[in-house]
Amino acid sequence: MTHPVTPATGAPLVHMRQINKAFGDHVVLDRVDLTVHTGEVVVLIGPSGAGKSTLLRCVNGLEQIDSGEIVIDGRRLRYDEKSLNRMRRHVGMVFQHFNLWPHKSVLDNVMTAPVRVARRNEEKARANALDLLEQVGLRQFADRYPMSLSGGQQQRVAIARALAMHPKVMLFDEPTSALDPELVGEVLAVMRDLALSGMTMMVVTHEMRFARAVADRVVLMADGGIAEQGPPTDVLDRPASERGRAFLRQVE
Ligand code: ADP
Ligand code: MG
Repeated sequence: MTHPVTPATGAPLVHMRQINKAFGDHVVLDRVDLTVHTGEVVVLIGPSGAGKSTLLRCVNGLEQIDSGEIVIDGRRLRYDEKSLNRMRRHVGMVFQHFNLWPHKSVLDNVMTAPVRVARRNEEKARANALDLLEQVGLRQFADRYPMSLSGGQQQRVAIARALAMHPKVMLFDEPTSALDPELVGEVLAVMRDLALSGMTMMVVTHEMRFARAVADRVVLMADGGIAEQGPPTDVLDRPASERGRAFLRQVE
């Protein structure tokens, strides 16, 4: 290897060791090891059904692993409600479908969890929410309702909402896949800025240009495991595995 796997990044933040996850007798994750370091941006790619969403959902406890361990910020993931709630404050997640609360304003979508869940001071939470809306370019839409926004704008609100809990790591599961093509760029731009600000990120996406430009590391998943990983230029331009070559022929 000529490149370090994790250039310019810090201590392990998300550590997965030998994790297994099956649905019935369908093994989806088979002894997967993956460590993401503070400040690192890891892009997960691979064919449909490879287990990318399941992996992310395991990281924030939406799915429970069958064996192995997940350690987040030094704390082993456990599944009692108290542990899950504490962990989820540190792990923000953005989904393909934005899942905003339709009956709440944009501002309330962003500030509700900090006030209700994290019991933050309401005025501080409001000021923070407005700052985050500014960061995603939507300060002027604070009083609007989600349905009156475009899909790209709604997804930017969803990003601001996740950031409002001050997460240590942000998970993105195909955040632009449900968007009209002309709205993809504005969401990727917000994600790129977030990456540049030093946020630790795990991103499932088919946007290879984003992967090239923003990822520190690309992880290619196939057949229940990691087929290969490395700097984007290595994995995307010179895939070492047959699975990698087959997948990349399809997407690029
Ligand atoms: P990807 O995100 O890479 O497309 P997923 O993690 O969504 O893959 O799914 C991996 C496999 O696990 C697929 O075969 C899918 O059908 C299966 N799967 C995912 N979630 C469930 C579930 N809740 N119950 C049963 N099977 C599931
Ligand atoms: Mg998926």
